[in-house]
Amino acid sequence: MMEVKDVASTALAQNPVIGRMLEYNHEQLVFCNDNETGLKAIIGVHNTILGPSLGGTRFWNYNNETEALIDVLRLSRGMTYKSSVAGINLGGGKAVIIGDPKKIKSEALLRRFGKFINTLGGKYITAEDVGVNTRDMETIHNETSYVAGLPVSMGGGGDPSPVTAYGVYVSMKASAKEVYGNDSLAGKKVLVQGLGNVGMHLVEYLAKEKAVLYVYDISEERVKIAVGLHSATSVTPDKMFDLDIDIYAPCALGATVNDDALSKLKCAIICGAANNQLADEKVHGEVVTKKGILYAPDFVVNAGGIINVYYELEGYVRERAMAHAEKIYDTTWNIIQTAKTEKIPTYMAANRIAEKRIEAIGKIKVRF
Ligand code: NAD
Repeated sequence: MMEVKDVASTALAQNPVIGRMLEYNHEQLVFCNDNETGLKAIIGVHNTILGPSLGGTRFWNYNNETEALIDVLRLSRGMTYKSSVAGINLGGGKAVIIGDPKKIKSEALLRRFGKFINTLGGKYITAEDVGVNTRDMETIHNETSYVAGLPVSMGGGGDPSPVTAYGVYVSMKASAKEVYGNDSLAGKKVLVQGLGNVGMHLVEYLAKEKAVLYVYDISEERVKIAVGLHSATSVTPDKMFDLDIDIYAPCALGATVNDDALSKLKCAIICGAANNQLADEKVHGEVVTKKGILYAPDFVVNAGGIINVYYELEGYVRERAMAHAEKIYDTTWNIIQTAKTEKIPTYMAANRIAEKRIEAIGKIKVRF
């Protein structure tokens, strides 16, 4: 007799696309092909209840179509939750272009992709992601106005990192309030991993508040700046999780909250900018809770980026974006309280809050 698991995998093998759309609860997928330019892309529109779907385009050399399909489904669903919990009127979307950008990226390919985006009439708005830069956005913009993340010279919001860093900073303060009874970060030992655009701005905020800073980046240049300008202490990757710290701020790569790190990590709070910090959301979301570490969910903490883009669509004013990013303090606080009341991990509380908002707004939208 076939087991339930076997039945499910057989069903998925027979329905590899719509079967997965059902699993991820997707509205629409658009498959794009152009033999002339070599463009092969998938646009994923996950949910448009709150507004047009928005999310970056990832240009990546996927091993096969299934990998690309799963990535676009996963990433676009993630955008739905991120925008919902950030309290902005955007749905979740994402696109992937299949291939090595170093080999196949061209003006013609990007413009052809722009034409495909344009056919959706604003249901999907694109932005930068891995393998696609601001200049590429300008190229795509030749064919469609449904592009965000443009430079200031083109009416865009420019670099979102200062807004993202501010959101991380206020989220860290809200987390501190829960753990220490007040939101001061003065004297708190914070490890910042990754001193890029976001990490360096974050270090600046923390230094101003007199936090004790430990930093690591694979770029020695970036470390030198943080040490020189902000009196941070440089640490090595093999030793950084042995440190006795209060707060760990992952601001480089995803999946750094994994079995290995958690076996050593001695901190009270994890709060940083990196996407997908938990190597396995379900497993490590539970482990951090059991270890008594307060994990501020990454997609809540780093929402400054999407908030910045949202205000670009409305005619960009940085002050408005910063004012909205400040609300990440209250959002983080509410999530922590929900997690405590419902006795669930914080990532799950954030998901529930996001789902509730979509459900509530979905109900008012059908009444004309
Ligand atoms: P960035 O590319 O400017 O900086 C990343 C930094 O991490 C670089 O300085 C790099 O040298 C360093 N780095 C890379 N590998 C490392 C490693 N193994 N250990 C330590 N450092 C390493 O990126 P960013 O814009 O600062 O974004 C940082 C993170 O935040 C990324 O995960 C990004 O996806 C996420 N994020 C950024 C924004 C934004 O507004 N820029 C918004 C949301 C999420």
